[in-house]
Amino acid sequence: MSATPVDEIAQIHATLRTTFRKGVTRPLAWRRHQLLQLALMMQENVDAFADSLEADLGKPRMEAIATEVGVIYERATICAQNLEEWTKPQAVEVPEWQQSWSPTVHKGAKGTILIISPWNYPLILTLQPLYGAISAGCCAVIKASEVAPNYATLLARLLPQYLDQSAYRVVLGAVPEITKLLELQWDHIFYTGNGRVARIIAAAAAKHLTPLTLELGGKSPVIVDGTFDISLAAKRILWGKINNAGQICVAPDYVVVLRDQQDELIAGLKSAYESFYPNGALNSTSYGRIVSDTHFERLKGQLKRTRGEVAFGGQTNEKRWFEPTIVKDVAGDDPLLEEEIFGPILPVVPVDSVEDAIEFITSRDHPLVLYVFTEDPKTKASIIDRTMSGNLVFNDTVQQLAVNTLPFGGVGESGYGRQILKYSFESFTYDRSCVDIPRAAEPTLEIRYPPYTDKNLAILSAPLRAKIPESSIVVNGNGVAH
Ligand code: NAD
Repeated sequence: MSATPVDEIAQIHATLRTTFRKGVTRPLAWRRHQLLQLALMMQENVDAFADSLEADLGKPRMEAIATEVGVIYERATICAQNLEEWTKPQAVEVPEWQQSWSPTVHKGAKGTILIISPWNYPLILTLQPLYGAISAGCCAVIKASEVAPNYATLLARLLPQYLDQSAYRVVLGAVPEITKLLELQWDHIFYTGNGRVARIIAAAAAKHLTPLTLELGGKSPVIVDGTFDISLAAKRILWGKINNAGQICVAPDYVVVLRDQQDELIAGLKSAYESFYPNGALNSTSYGRIVSDTHFERLKGQLKRTRGEVAFGGQTNEKRWFEPTIVKDVAGDDPLLEEEIFGPILPVVPVDSVEDAIEFITSRDHPLVLYVFTEDPKTKASIIDRTMSGNLVFNDTVQQLAVNTLPFGGVGESGYGRQILKYSFESFTYDRSCVDIPRAAEPTLEIRYPPYTDKNLAILSAPLRAKIPESSIVVNGNGVAH
């Protein structure tokens, strides 16, 4: 992969800002055309994209199509169909005396967007924000990850063949190129990746007061309380973990299970593994590999340090295949519970009660996803009420990403901002409020002008004298509620 020359970056930025200022990206017909071109780029290059993901990640073709190429094709098309609806000015409800002002919210395009993406789902994580930017009427630069160079190089070659180069560009490279990009002023930065780099991005954005979306990861836990069929739970958990060999931000990171059900869960995981990979996962065409030597060594190191017991798996080979590996009897202070695993190791943590499971999870960072296998309505209610996470999924894993109308994003350490379809569009627009106050409204406005009088003050302050509604909570003299 040859990097974009650093001294060209400022020129690319300037070109895009000029395009935006000239209003090129604003007409809906133009946006629609770019979105359909994006869909066409997916349709005409399925093989090339799948091959690039295979080369970078050993990604099975089925995963490449089901979770990346096909999704962008579908969603770019849905955006094109919904543009008119999403961009319609919205009238708001107002009291009668304000109705002649036509209070309205317009969806304003923010401007020129910087998209910085990671390597694990390199296609969807670059092009999902891109369809959002196009839908919003923005220009965008994509900085693809240098860790998936085959995809990044292909994207840089294909994008100009389909989309308007004066509005959408790819920058290739790593830290020097990002550093240059971050010196420049953007109207929104959409960063997907780890929390350490997110802090560098956020600090650079602060210098220009640039708004941010941070799509981060972390440790997404699973709770299994035994009221949902354990062998099906095990199958669904393992499936969530083997996607892209566990290198997915929404992978189940660890499982918390009631102590007396740990063995049954492990047996279910083993049986699911044997049904997915009758000849073992290593080198299977239905299983991806670890992206780089650095990540491969990191995962091997994690497994070496654990004080838990490897229940099954743990094999690796010289081509960076890492077998799904289940580790049982993992304690809360085990090294496997420190950092996001981001690979196919699944620690299982036994606890004595659902209460302990909730305590275990709420005492840690807010995860991107919380998975809970339960059919107990009380447990569900308690989880909704007492825990925090970007997404909450009962009784399955990863499948939440297939719901086109739900927002996706994190909270706390797992990031902020939302995406997918309308939410992607919303990320790159701002609500521009507008009133148009006619001459005829003047009699209702006379009261605001000097000279200020006691009579007008009495009228304006009347609401402050209205009785406040009763509260059902009684507060004692020390401010303590009963
Ligand atoms: P990565 O190494 O590809 O880095 C992401 C981007 O940051 C790249 O474009 C890279 O060039 C840039 N970068 C790297 N170091 C930098 C530095 N020092 N300064 C400025 N920019 C730098 O990918 P990664 O961070 O390893 O990605 C994996 C992480 O992303 C995991 O934590 C995962 O959970 C998270 N993730 C989150 C989502 C989501 O949607 N929430 C999706 C995928 C991945």
